[in-house]
Amino acid sequence: MIEFGPFSLEGFSLGGVETALRVPELKLAIDVGRGRADLLTCDHIALTHTHIDHAGGLPYLLGLRQLYSMRTPTLYCPGQVARELRAMLDAWEKVQRYELRCDIVPVEVGGRYSLRKGVVLEPFRTYHPVPSFGYTVVEEVQKLLPEHQGRPGPEIAALRKDGVEVTETVRRPWLSVTGDTLVEVLDREPHILESEVLVLECTFLDARKPLDKSRAGGHIHLDELTPLAGAFRNDRLVLSHFSQIYDQRAIARLLRPFGEAIAPTLLTLPTAPPGGETLGSADGAPDD
Ligand SMILES: [Zn+2]
Ligand SMILES: [Zn+2]
Repeated sequence: MIEFGPFSLEGFSLGGVETALRVPELKLAIDVGRGRADLLTCDHIALTHTHIDHAGGLPYLLGLRQLYSMRTPTLYCPGQVARELRAMLDAWEKVQRYELRCDIVPVEVGGRYSLRKGVVLEPFRTYHPVPSFGYTVVEEVQKLLPEHQGRPGPEIAALRKDGVEVTETVRRPWLSVTGDTLVEVLDREPHILESEVLVLECTFLDARKPLDKSRAGGHIHLDELTPLAGAFRNDRLVLSHFSQIYDQRAIARLLRPFGEAIAPTLLTLPTAPPGGETLGSADGAPDD
């Protein structure tokens, strides 16, 4: 679990196999993997894209919510696939003869979606072979303007009554999650380099996957991050979505030099859910 301000992040990710993240305090899931039961607490579900390792569990999760008579969740997804997603859920409704209710919100660049009072979800463009978005969780707090700080409460109230602007909105970008993407996202969406926590995909870590093949799949290779080591201004950088060609020991070893070169603390998302389950193929051989 990764804590940041009043929030925390849980989740796991194995490239091509399963990715699911959760911010319990906001009832927010970002990608749902196979739709495991711990995601049932999430009334907000944001999909980065509709590859099956990120979105395959959606009908199952909605089915469970229906079974337990839970409230209708809100589903944020790239606008270009909203209709197909609904058609997929409609097909499931027909074959299982139960409703799969969700309020689909097709997200767009520049959109802001309220998760709760003072916290918004802001999508940003990412670069993958299917329509895709990353998400930033921003907290917005009203703060007294510096010139009014230290004044007694009744004085502030009087100013307010006279229509004087006494507060300003301070934005706190707590968390950005890219989902699967090319490295260009760092150049084109530089605001994510300022989030307290940045969860960035880095599927490939060494020459076992040549750079051109990594890019062809719409993924980031560690060789592309190393020259950008000075760019990260986050408090923590969380790499994720490692290919199953790497075991835990290899991941730690291959990432060490990069971790030493960046200012943020480098963390990794687990490649499997808690409880000892191993994901991926038995011999770990197939590629992402
Ligand atoms: Zn993926
Ligand atoms: Zn993908």
